[in-house]
Amino acid sequence: MTISTDDAWQELIGISADPPDMRDKCEQCKRPVVVCWCSALPQPPLAVDSQIVILQHPAEEKRSLRTAHMLQLGLQPGKCVVYKGKRFPNTRHSAELQHLLDSPQTLLLYPSKESVPLENIDRSAGPYNLVLIDGTWPQAKAIYASSPALHRLRQVKLIAVGISDYIIRTQPTEGCLSTLETAAQCLAVLESQPELRQLLVRPLHALCKYQLDNGAVEHQSKEFLMKTNQYPKPIGKRLSRLLNYSNAVPLEQQSHSQERDS
Ligand SMILES: [Zn+2]
Repeated sequence: MTISTDDAWQELIGISADPPDMRDKCEQCKRPVVVCWCSALPQPPLAVDSQIVILQHPAEEKRSLRTAHMLQLGLQPGKCVVYKGKRFPNTRHSAELQHLLDSPQTLLLYPSKESVPLENIDRSAGPYNLVLIDGTWPQAKAIYASSPALHRLRQVKLIAVGISDYIIRTQPTEGCLSTLETAAQCLAVLESQPELRQLLVRPLHALCKYQLDNGAVEHQSKEFLMKTNQYPKPIGKRLSRLLNYSNAVPLEQQSHSQERDS
């Protein structure tokens, strides 16, 4: 099969010098310019003593609203490092991660029985490195289970968590925060600077506001929606029957009991 010179020429002039999907992207946040949140970033980036270490599940990177990047750009370079994988450390990770996971100054945010409130950590013995697992709750549990290096870390939890600002993405449960909100809240505690939280979550607010102004629906948590019968996810026949007829006696049993009664 051959292409005539005319066709080849037509094809060539049809190619844009500037592909449309690349043309209007912000250099910094890599998002289309209309939804760029860079103007909401703290300027200059915030200086903190603590370091945030994000262990990111590979699936998290593909989500459209990634908040770890907002945190990286909101803090001075190197104050938020992101490692990707399903197991930590693995052979592709740098020696720096191993060093962090070996350090007595490293804390793991993980809501287990052993975890202590972050507020109770002796701040005068800091600065600390705080490890966060970025992914859904089942992903985080799987990462923890397959990463023995994490089991040795002192575990902490956040007590005072508000309703998520991250209203675009449905949260699995009440009190479940985005990675950015979680890290911002932790930094506010570790640095004893409550204002850090607001400063760091501003890009998220800007993004949510844009989405809401453009017709996105304000999501509430799945827990809330299910409680109020609004959760739109279709449920299986068996579960549906259980939920709708849990108080009603199945027809079969009704006829049996009638037989017995008569
Ligand atoms: Zn931007």
